[in-house]
Amino acid sequence: MQLSDKIKHTIRDVRDYPKPGVVFKDITPILADPLLMNEMITQLKTDLKDLRLDAIAAVEARGFIFGAILAHALNCRFIPIRKAGKLPYKTVQQEYSLEYGTAAIEMHEDALQPGWRVLVHDDVLATGGTAGAAANLVRHSGAELAGFSFIINLSFLPGELNLLHHFGVKPQYLV
Ligand code: IMP
Repeated sequence: MQLSDKIKHTIRDVRDYPKPGVVFKDITPILADPLLMNEMITQLKTDLKDLRLDAIAAVEARGFIFGAILAHALNCRFIPIRKAGKLPYKTVQQEYSLEYGTAAIEMHEDALQPGWRVLVHDDVLATGGTAGAAANLVRHSGAELAGFSFIINLSFLPGELNLLHHFGVKPQYLV
């Protein structure tokens, strides 16, 4: 079986979570399958190695899981991006739109240096709002946005097109 099919078969669809009408992609069964995890990390390593990354910036909480493993595998820095108010030191903040209202994410102000090549990683790409806000934090720091990587792209939503349009960078994903 192809890797993408294995991932699709392992992800659990949870209906009406976190609210009625939403089908939530639950990646926790992937995390409980070490053989699949291994295969995914090997694939991601191959997909991303030519980007010559200095850092991977990942969005909490599920983005931290693969983000940290990938940073280790590619021998680059791991930069946590968190919901507003969660990071202990001085931060830079970026607001972004949700279906109703806005949210904000933050990164430590000294996390990145100008010129560094940085990948934005998260588990799921939906509308692209979260990853786009993370990419803005990267660019505002003077670092270079080297790419976007996700495990899952919800292809019925416009996230891929939104990111391509706004940042000129084509997102990568496994399924
Ligand atoms: P976006 O900002 O609309 O692209 O939504 C992506 C963010 O919401 C990511 O941080 C995801 O972790 C989370 N997310 C959205 N839909 C799902 C889902 O079906 N499963 C897991 N996370 C999701």
